[in-house]
Amino acid sequence: MKRVYFFGNGKADGTAKDKNLLGGKGANLAEMTNLEIPVPPGFTITTKVCIHFMNSGEYPDNLKKEVQNSLKEIEQIMGQKFGDPENPLLVSVRSGARQSMPGMMESVLNIGLTSKTIPGLIEKSGDNRFVYDAYRRLITMYADVVMEKAAAIEPKEGDGIREKLDEIMAKLKSHNGVENDSELSAENLKELCHLFKIEVAKSLGEEFPDDAQIQLWGGIKAVFKSWNGKRAVSYREIENIPHHWGTAVNIQAMVYGNMGDNCATGVAFTRNPATGENVFFGEWLPNAQGEDVVAGLRTPNPLNNLNKISDSQNLPSLEDSMPKIYEELDAIQNQLEAHYNDMQDIEFTIQNGRLWMLQTRTGKRNGPASVRMAVEMLEEGMIDEKTALMRVKPEQLGEIMHPMLDAKVEKQSELLAKGLPAGPGGASGQIVFTADEAEVWHKNGKQVILVRSETSPEDVHGMFASEAILTTRGGMTSHAALVARGWGKCCVVGCANIRISPIDKTLSANGTTLMEGDWITLNGSSGRVYKGQIPLKAVNLKSNTYFQKLMQITDRHRKMGVRTNADSPADAKQAREFGAEGIGLCRTEHMFFDPERISAMREMIVAENEEDRRKAIMKLLPHQREDFYGILKAMAPHPVTIRLLDPPLHEFLPQDEDQILKLAEELNITTEELNARIENLHELNPMLGHRGCRLGISYPEITEMQTRAIFEATVQLKNENQSPFPEVMVPLIGSVEEFTNQKKIINDMAETVKKEQGVQFTYLVGTMIELPRACATADQIAEEAQFFSFGTNDLTQTTFGFSRDDIGGFLPDYLEQKILSIDPFQSIDQEGVGSLVKMGVEKGRSVNSKLKIGICGEHGGDPESIYFFHKTELDYVSCSPFRVPIARLAAAQAEVG
Ligand code: ADP
Ligand code: MG
Ligand code: MG
Repeated sequence: MKRVYFFGNGKADGTAKDKNLLGGKGANLAEMTNLEIPVPPGFTITTKVCIHFMNSGEYPDNLKKEVQNSLKEIEQIMGQKFGDPENPLLVSVRSGARQSMPGMMESVLNIGLTSKTIPGLIEKSGDNRFVYDAYRRLITMYADVVMEKAAAIEPKEGDGIREKLDEIMAKLKSHNGVENDSELSAENLKELCHLFKIEVAKSLGEEFPDDAQIQLWGGIKAVFKSWNGKRAVSYREIENIPHHWGTAVNIQAMVYGNMGDNCATGVAFTRNPATGENVFFGEWLPNAQGEDVVAGLRTPNPLNNLNKISDSQNLPSLEDSMPKIYEELDAIQNQLEAHYNDMQDIEFTIQNGRLWMLQTRTGKRNGPASVRMAVEMLEEGMIDEKTALMRVKPEQLGEIMHPMLDAKVEKQSELLAKGLPAGPGGASGQIVFTADEAEVWHKNGKQVILVRSETSPEDVHGMFASEAILTTRGGMTSHAALVARGWGKCCVVGCANIRISPIDKTLSANGTTLMEGDWITLNGSSGRVYKGQIPLKAVNLKSNTYFQKLMQITDRHRKMGVRTNADSPADAKQAREFGAEGIGLCRTEHMFFDPERISAMREMIVAENEEDRRKAIMKLLPHQREDFYGILKAMAPHPVTIRLLDPPLHEFLPQDEDQILKLAEELNITTEELNARIENLHELNPMLGHRGCRLGISYPEITEMQTRAIFEATVQLKNENQSPFPEVMVPLIGSVEEFTNQKKIINDMAETVKKEQGVQFTYLVGTMIELPRACATADQIAEEAQFFSFGTNDLTQTTFGFSRDDIGGFLPDYLEQKILSIDPFQSIDQEGVGSLVKMGVEKGRSVNSKLKIGICGEHGGDPESIYFFHKTELDYVSCSPFRVPIARLAAAQAEVG
């Protein structure tokens, strides 16, 4: 078995296809070599060797020999010898897994510099400043990554060897009155190396090795060991990367960007990764090495004149400073992008006027850039439509739809805490602690962020008035998160490190205390909370032609429909702009929280007889008719699925004494009487109690009122020459008998309204499938129903027997102990809940081939779940307005992927 793959002089043992064996870096170094791009010669030790080492703690037989042989090949090409006193070869040792991974060992450069080789290199290069600069870098990198990190020494924060060495260097710089390390003299650097070695021995209890071979093997071993380092392991767990992949090691002849002013190093992208613009984009530094550009110790220069910004206006571009080399680099970047058919992230070094490429990989990009690149590469004929669709991660579209924080200002802002990113985008506002205050401040023209431990339906008006919502408890499916997502509002939840005191009206976190009215800023895409105000960058979707084009392509390729969950005409309009093809779930209960309506609702609930109940209900009729008129109109001619009243009634009951007093007055009864009635309505398990179709069965007048409102609104619209398309949906059906009971009331009401108004109209009657029993008897229900809509929130709840509101108590344990791999309320549990969905679809279609089937839970906006629903052959998914584009893209990817 071959353990070491060589590359150099235009020929390599491996290719880009060997990523699994050679890691991303190694495979691409091989590929570039084969393309005859100038790459310093080197070799890659395979990931298989890493696995062997992990399992046995030893290197496989012959590895040493293979390494020495490959080293000889490098020596031949370079005309230098590793460890040779006269003409020493130096190498870098670089880690490289299949996928780049934080927590893995970083590279060590200049390996092979020792007291034996230093004089030779000074002699050969005629530059002792350069040699000591290389040496101090070697000591720092080696001490940091090999002697400390890979040895699993865990220094206290700020007490690591790198920090100590950096401090020594800072002192030396200020002592000599220089600002940049490039201004240190050869003598300075020589002294620095001396001080470094003393510090290393003192801090780590071990001498910095003065032997080229020991350095080399120390580096190799450190790379292998870093695969099982703590940070690398936990990163893999979070990202679901298998532990058995292992990492490769790359050993490569050094080229020097720090040998003087005709030397340089730089990083670049073949297109702008922040905007997607097709402009070669990058940064460089003269007389520098390795990661100097990225580390930001010196302000890097712009690569070319096109990507100069006001900050870098006066800095020299490579284009002007070394025009010949820039031309060569530009040709190579074009070649690489055309070869890989994707944007590349490249690293290069210039040694004495000669260009060397050190890395290429597919470049990371933000949401707007990914869309623009996909569309432009398609237009350039570089990729086809299917590839373009797959290039954008559905979640990245979120970045395009929401205003984001100005990244530069964000970097410099004071971080207060980090929670869960529940609603994307950014927002700034003054803090308030109650919903009522939020509303009042908002009315007075203020911009507020509502901060609560958690929110409830009672807070909705204040949440609406706020720029963003911040909670200290609750998870990604908490009330605050759901509501915010529905509105596309910025929201951070579960910020456990924030203490709030609604009584003192203070918020404290990270040693800072803020008062009501103080400004904070949320990054809802990352969950970060900052002190003060950070400017936003607004978006205009209509003018984003790349986004519009991508969406058109999406619609050409997808078969599954995408609807929205919307309860108001404004949401419906918004969703249509995002491309929704109907409403999959219009909940009616939210319509009752309005102060004007809630009292009529409460009257209805506490009514003791049908007559009183009808009286209260009829007060609601005009309001409901108006709601349905607005929504049906906003969506016409697309269908609107309206769900009849669903939640347990007690949710609408008055909570505090004031409210009870007021209601008692309105009803003209005593508070004792009212309290007794409220007591009667109390349920132990409201989620499994008197709710869903059970309400309409006990109180048919509720169903009658709601359907009358729907059909009268329909007639009104028809009279205005509109084409409304209502679909009446009965919630929480467990048996066909429940359904036929309600269906009769609905159909009778339709006949009544048609007769009364003398107008014909069409509508559908269907049901929500959210109980396991409904899935099991879906064939019976489908004989009667015209459509099914899987309510996967409740179906998940009832299948697992998990209460969604209480899951916070145990879900973290489940995730940590890997009893569950993902929150089933966020991404559909394909094996369990999913197989019930499948059963429901199969049974339903077996008796009713025209049955329309959709899903309207939170899962309708989750890409992974959407791929599953596509396989299950649903007709449509329905999700909150801001997720509609995400669902459209995911549905298309499900088709072509
Ligand atoms: P990373 O994975 O963090 O990018 P790299 O292995 O690419 O780490 O190395 C870090 C830096 O060192 C890069 O800037 C790279 O260009 C530079 N570097 C690595 N090997 C060499 C080499 N043989 N000669 C010159 N510079 C090198
Ligand atoms: Mg790096
Ligand atoms: Mg690199």
